[in-house]
Amino acid sequence: MMDAKGEKRKRFMKVHVSNKENLKSCGFLLILHLMEEFNKEPNKAKLRSHFSEILHSIFFLGIIHEDSLTPEDILSEKTAKSIRNEFPEPFMKFNTHLPKRTPFSILLDIMQRKYGTKEKVMEELCSLMEKLKFPVPIDRPANKYQHYYTLESTVICVCSNSQHTDEYFGASLGCRGKKAKRIMINSSCLNTWHEYVSHAVMSFRHQEGDSLQFHESMQCQAYIRDLKINTYKETRPCSNCNKLFSLPDCTEKEYNPYGNCAETECLSKLLFNDQFMRENITIRSYKPEEINRLKASTKESLLKELASIPSLSNMNDLLFF
Ligand SMILES: [Zn+2]
Repeated sequence: MMDAKGEKRKRFMKVHVSNKENLKSCGFLLILHLMEEFNKEPNKAKLRSHFSEILHSIFFLGIIHEDSLTPEDILSEKTAKSIRNEFPEPFMKFNTHLPKRTPFSILLDIMQRKYGTKEKVMEELCSLMEKLKFPVPIDRPANKYQHYYTLESTVICVCSNSQHTDEYFGASLGCRGKKAKRIMINSSCLNTWHEYVSHAVMSFRHQEGDSLQFHESMQCQAYIRDLKINTYKETRPCSNCNKLFSLPDCTEKEYNPYGNCAETECLSKLLFNDQFMRENITIRSYKPEEINRLKASTKESLLKELASIPSLSNMNDLLFF
């Protein structure tokens, strides 16, 4: 009979293995789906840069994973070889360049370009998630073993300026583990998000905390996928989003780091695209010297974090894909 220690080890191994298998199998399933879409598409040029970006993002999350998964680990030698012929760049840069966003955010962007409206995008996302059969439920925060590493974002969010019809989509970070989240948030603050959003996130991460107050015509609604009936339903903002973006009617929940939520990405897109929103925002202490200071310390922690991952090569300067 196995003693308690043996039992514990066996349980750990099982969780550990399934953890690796989940990131591997989700990455594999998503890439296969994308390749099918790519082969069907008559206008390949339109999709090429998005697909290249999504491949790079999956490979990057694989290589920073504790099991240092290479593209060949995720895809198998043979499949990797054929995809490399079509998309060489992600294979060359997955361990030297940082992604701008997680795979699910890129997928959401592709879906919005293809389907347009919020209703249609959510409907199509649900059927895609059903088709891909990602292995485990995602409506819970990652536990310490993170044994359900799927690439699906738990929450998506749509925001707009009520005076216009344009809608902006965002996804919560589609990666698991504190380290991966820290890297993606710090990297996004430096290179992806609008400067006001970055400022708010960095200021709260460094504990001084400077909220953004949007003009009253800003509308923002987050949605979570109900796995039982496979449909998106409205969800309230968390207390972090209330602090960062002054969003009303928030819940008490705040188990995710600042910047993790879907609101961050869609509000950043809104600011990039809507001049009225940029000009009518209130930020208490947004000064060039302050943002430079925050960016410098964000860059320092990001470089330190990247240097601690042996499978990444030469990241002593930041390069972005
Ligand atoms: Zn939130």
